[in-house]
Amino acid sequence: MHRILVLAEHDHGQLKLASFAAAGFAQKVCAGAADSSFDILLIGSGLAAPAEGLRRSGAAAVLTADSPALAEPLADRYASVIADTARARDATLVVAATSTFSKDILPRAAALLDAGMLSDVIDVRPEGADLIFRRVMFAGNVIATVQLDGAVKCLTVRSAAFAAPAPTDALSPVEALALDPAQLPQFAEFISRETKASTRPDATEARIIVSGGRALKNAADFERLIGGLADVLGAAVGSSRALVDSGITPNSLQIGQTGKIVAPDLYFAVGISGAIQHMAGMKDTKVIAAINKDPEAPIFEVADYGLVADVYEAVPELMAKLKP
Ligand SMILES: Cc1cc2nc3c(=O)[nH]c(=O)nc-3n(C[C@H](O)[C@H](O)[C@H](O)COP(=O)(O)OP(=O)(O)OC[C@H]3O[C@@H](n4cnc5c(N)ncnc54)[C@H](O)[C@@H]3O)c2cc1C
Repeated sequence: MHRILVLAEHDHGQLKLASFAAAGFAQKVCAGAADSSFDILLIGSGLAAPAEGLRRSGAAAVLTADSPALAEPLADRYASVIADTARARDATLVVAATSTFSKDILPRAAALLDAGMLSDVIDVRPEGADLIFRRVMFAGNVIATVQLDGAVKCLTVRSAAFAAPAPTDALSPVEALALDPAQLPQFAEFISRETKASTRPDATEARIIVSGGRALKNAADFERLIGGLADVLGAAVGSSRALVDSGITPNSLQIGQTGKIVAPDLYFAVGISGAIQHMAGMKDTKVIAAINKDPEAPIFEVADYGLVADVYEAVPELMAKLKP
C-alpha cells in the first residue's frame, strides 16, 4: 500500500506539463499495489486555476497550500509545507518531476522527513510491498536499479519516462490546507525576480526545440539563425554550453547535463558537435535533426536526420522554405 504525495509545479498559476508526468508515475505505482492512492499538492498564491487544471488526473484530492507568503518558490518555506503535508497525509512517497524547481526544494523536504532521496527516476516496478526504481546516472551513461530504505521516500522523475494520466470523468476534490504563515521558515526573503520577456515557449515544455552551438559566432547570428528558425517553427530556443560559457547565450537556454533536460518531439541541433554532456539533456527526444559541417560529428550518430552543411547557408535556406 502506497500513499503518494505529488508536488505539482507551476509558474505563477501556469501549470508545468511535467507535473502531469509526475502524476502519471503515481498512477503507475498505484496500479501495481492494492489500496494505494495519490494526492497532488500545489503550493503558491492564488491557486484556483491550476487546482482546477489538476482535477481530472485521478488524484484522491488536489491539496492547495495557498498564501501570499508562498507566492514565490522560496525553498525553505516550500520544503516545510511539503514535509508537514506528507506527515499529515501519512505519505510514503513524495514525488515531483525533475526540474530546477524540484532540485532546489525536494532534497530539503527529504531532509526534514528523514527520508531517502532519489533523482531522475525513469522506471518503477513493485517488489513485494516495496518498489524498485531505475534511475539515470553519470550523464545518462549508467542506469542504476535502486531500492530505497526508510518509511518515506522522496523522488524526482523524468517527465519523458511517464505518460500523463488519461483525463478522468470524475473530478478530484480540492482541499485547502490550513496554514499559519507566521509558522513558515523566514530564513530567506524574496527580493525580486529578473525575467526576460519572451514570446517563445520554454524548452522544457516545447514540442520543438531549435538549439545552437559553437558554430554561431555571436549573439546577433544566434538570434537571426536559431531564433529565426525557432519562430518559423513555433519552437523554443536552446543552446549548448559552449555558447553559454562564451557569453553569447544566457544560462537559461543551456541544454544538457548541467542545463535543462528536455524531451521534445523534434530537436534541431544546429552547429552542435554532440558532446556526451549535451546529449545527456536531449537524447530522449523523439526525432533529432542535426546540421553540422563535419560529417564525423558525434551528433550524427544519434540524429534521425542529418545535413552536412554550413549553418550560415543551410539555416537561411531552410527558413525560406519553411516560411508560409
Ligand atoms: C561537467 C561538464 C558538464 C557539461 N555540461 C554541459 C551541458 O549541460 N550542456 C552542454 O551543451 N555542454 C556541456 N558541457 C560541455 C561539453 O563537453 C561540450 O564542450 C559542449 O557541449 C560543446 O558545445 P558545442 O557542441 O556547441 O561546441 P563544439 O564541441 O565546439 O562543436 C561545435 C560544432 O559546430 C560545428 N561547426 C562549426 N562551424 C560550423 C558551421 N559554420 N556550420 C556547421 N557546423 C559548424 C563543428 O563541426 C562542431 O561539430 C559540459 C562539460 C563538462 C565537463
